[in-house]
Amino acid sequence: MTQVRIPSPPRGTLTGVPSQTSTVDELRTGGTILPIIRWGNQILHRSARPVTAFNDELFELVRNMFATMYAAEGVGLAAPQVGVDLAVFVFDCPDDDQVRHAGVMCNAEVILPEGKERKLHASDEGCLSLPGAYIELARPDHATCRGLDQNGDQVEVVGTGLLARCLQHETDHLNGIVFGDRLSGRARKKLYSLHEDSADLYPDDWPVSPRTDSA
Ligand code: ZN
Repeated sequence: MTQVRIPSPPRGTLTGVPSQTSTVDELRTGGTILPIIRWGNQILHRSARPVTAFNDELFELVRNMFATMYAAEGVGLAAPQVGVDLAVFVFDCPDDDQVRHAGVMCNAEVILPEGKERKLHASDEGCLSLPGAYIELARPDHATCRGLDQNGDQVEVVGTGLLARCLQHETDHLNGIVFGDRLSGRARKKLYSLHEDSADLYPDDWPVSPRTDSA
């Protein structure tokens, strides 16, 4: 994986307000755990609003998203999943070499390999907004994700393995697509029945309240 940062024009130059930035490490601690919204809520099924303000409010949202993702033991979480209509996701996910990558991606787009470069990999996929259910889904094994980081700087992440899947899954969320939308009708039915089987374990405000078998 490579991560390239391209500096943006200096912030605050027009207003004279000092520019404020934050690192991913600063944002990965100190947040508040929020309830995760489930599939069927309309916020998960429409495109999210692009992020245009890179400020303390965004930092606080991102901090809360990291706290929520870690509490839910996920590898990625998009703002609509905590009920916020903004095109931003956080991730902390291993790649094919088991190297962990953590970051923030706003206004993300995914570029997938084409032609001979395109290889599909089928693996179990799940979603924190449909907890307890996993099913196999084939996706390209490489993905390049471009967007802006928490400070509004352009960023590109090239993912392999689970990270490639995560970047595609989370960018889908920003576009109002859940992975059930990419399944056959039969696979989707199976997925919902797996979710039904374990739904009782997840309180409505999970992960604010933990899974009932881990309390
Ligand atoms: Zn998801």
